[in-house]
Amino acid sequence: MFKRMQQLQCESVHCFSSVDQDTPFRAFIVLHNTDRGPALGGCRLKSYRNENAALNDAMRLAQGMSYKAAMADIPHGGGKAVIMEPAEPYDRNALFQWFGRCVDSLNGRYVTAMDVGTRVDDMDTIATQTQHVASHSAIGDPSPHTARGVFAGIRAALEFQQGKSLAQARVAVQGLGHVGLELSRLLLRNGATVFATDTNLQACDKAASLGAEVVDLNDIHRVGVDVFAPCALGAVVNDSSLAELQCRIVAGCANNQLAEPHCGDALAQRGILYAPDYVINAGGLIYAAGRYANRDEDLIVQDVDQIYYRLLRLFVAAQSRNCSVDQVADQQAREILRNDHIKLSA
Ligand code: NAD
Repeated sequence: MFKRMQQLQCESVHCFSSVDQDTPFRAFIVLHNTDRGPALGGCRLKSYRNENAALNDAMRLAQGMSYKAAMADIPHGGGKAVIMEPAEPYDRNALFQWFGRCVDSLNGRYVTAMDVGTRVDDMDTIATQTQHVASHSAIGDPSPHTARGVFAGIRAALEFQQGKSLAQARVAVQGLGHVGLELSRLLLRNGATVFATDTNLQACDKAASLGAEVVDLNDIHRVGVDVFAPCALGAVVNDSSLAELQCRIVAGCANNQLAEPHCGDALAQRGILYAPDYVINAGGLIYAAGRYANRDEDLIVQDVDQIYYRLLRLFVAAQSRNCSVDQVADQQAREILRNDHIKLSA
């Protein structure tokens, strides 16, 4: 664990196990970097193969949150929580009350929010135990703002690479959850042709009723489109999918889309423009951080829309340095974090 912490530069790892259940609840909270401020990052509820898989997920996601906060210039560090979903039936309310106490025990060094598998009402349950929660119902679901940011990023990528507007674009959306469905709605409303899929058939039906063409789960990354938008889980750009991609741009909300760092180079070599996940999907974080700090909602929306310009600048920098966009973004994020650390230590 310490080796992995060092590799990813994680500040601390907190392991929690409940004591008053027959089958204990288990969770990890990873604080990647708190130099900018308290770590802000979602809480994922998922069934994991084993605790190593859960811990590894939490560490990689926490690193992504530090990079995301740094690039979006918000006064928070990066952290993430994962709760290992019990295999047996469990009391959801008890689980999130317990998790709220876990968050509270960190005395504000970690602020939690929604992520895959968690809902606004879970955040309300957490809020009964701690004030350090940034997406309960009084604040609202950050997902529509993530979708808004991804939409802005797709526009930037299309304009940069092809001088194309959305009305001429074909987009494949993988995953029609909180973000993917709203993204599909925005794309369709602006004239794009949308292909969509989800493991959940009801979600597919909703997308179809909006005007999307539903395609098979296994075919979504092989559809001939301008943009492939991964909006489900991570590692979708991997050694096997790379050869099959029929798109010119990869731009979606999923975290950790590149299975390995070399996949970013491989995309660039194939002439596929990649919008780094932690830059394009920062809308929800910008919204949650802004609402947590009681910022005016109109100003927050303006900040979300800056994702368009942030990505354009990255695309230009990558082109002029002749390297992949993810490399430029990683370098910039690390430099911001290094400078924060120097300022703090001075
Ligand atoms: P969600 O759980 O609401 O939606 C995910 C959807 O993907 C579900 O409908 C699920 O059925 C579907 N899915 C799962 N496996 C699939 C597969 N193999 N093929 C197609 N569909 C599949 O999650 P969300 O909040 O919409 O987030 C989606 C992704 O974006 C996650 O990786 C999340 O970490 C990331 N993200 C979300 C936010 C946010 O504000 N919600 C912010 C930043 C990043």
